[in-house]
Amino acid sequence: MKVHWRFLISAMAITLLIFFWEFLSNFALKDRKLDPFSMNTSRYSEDKCKNLFQEFCDSDPDFGASTYTDPTGEVWLDSESEAAVREADKGDQKWIAAVFSQRRNRRISEIEKWVKQELIQWVHSQSSRVFNSRDKQELIWRLRATRIEFPDPSIGYPDDPELLLHSQALYERTGTSPRGLRRIRFGGAYVLGTSSRYNLAFTMAHELAHAIDPCELRSTGWAIPAFDRLSACFTAAGVAATPKNRVECRRNDQLSETFADWVAVQVASRALVQWGSEYPEPQRWASVGNSIRDLCEEDDGPAAQETHPNTPIRIEKILGTNPVIREFLGCPASEEPPCRLE
Ligand SMILES: [Zn+2]
Repeated sequence: MKVHWRFLISAMAITLLIFFWEFLSNFALKDRKLDPFSMNTSRYSEDKCKNLFQEFCDSDPDFGASTYTDPTGEVWLDSESEAAVREADKGDQKWIAAVFSQRRNRRISEIEKWVKQELIQWVHSQSSRVFNSRDKQELIWRLRATRIEFPDPSIGYPDDPELLLHSQALYERTGTSPRGLRRIRFGGAYVLGTSSRYNLAFTMAHELAHAIDPCELRSTGWAIPAFDRLSACFTAAGVAATPKNRVECRRNDQLSETFADWVAVQVASRALVQWGSEYPEPQRWASVGNSIRDLCEEDDGPAAQETHPNTPIRIEKILGTNPVIREFLGCPASEEPPCRLE
């Protein structure tokens, strides 16, 4: 009899355990299914990570405002800053000094110094399989020789007066000599509407990258094999368009602009990690968004559209595949690997 009771008690204990286990797992499952907050949050972040272009360019985080802010400053929409500059331009030249104020010029010069240092460091850090020592010397020389040219407050840019009215930045080499003057110029509307350090850093890095882009090197008789491999990756990955009549580095080719974006994204990732590592999630998204916010409004000119990859590609395939930026945003690694130098 004693054995029988023991058996009964053990059987009941096991049944109770199974019942309890089932109850617990059911509860956990229900809890996961029914918690709308955790479910929505993770699905929302996942969606955001998959649609960076939409998140940065189609949504309106400031509820309809035309200004986007991050902890370091603002980026106005091109149309807004260009309208503000036209409003300020009363026919005399006084507004030029007001827009290119000492404070704004100093901020731009500080960013230039930081970005140049980052790029020089980037060149130095590449292995000898990527750049040999002569390549490194040449690239660093070109970066150092490229300087910002602010407009003269009394005459603006005499050879390009229209630039003052636009939200643009330009890299230019004057003359045909490989050792000709290299300069970066900013449109008045860009300077008026951009105080975000993230956008200034991305834009500066993009323009400085033109000083060493594969087409600029080629036009002054320099070639680097690692850049040919990179260029092949851009076309294979569908980042740079390959129209039938494409001739590399000619008018309808996107290599130069793709390269400049690709370099700028790496500098932007350094800026985000260095300046924004303590930010909560919304500020991180605002900072990454502001880095490239001005790309959202595409330049309407046919020339600009031919030479630049379109905005969704610039954001999804160049910015959106960068592992550092994805980690900064809390996004999983991209399914498509970014193009690399080796
Ligand atoms: Zn460019």
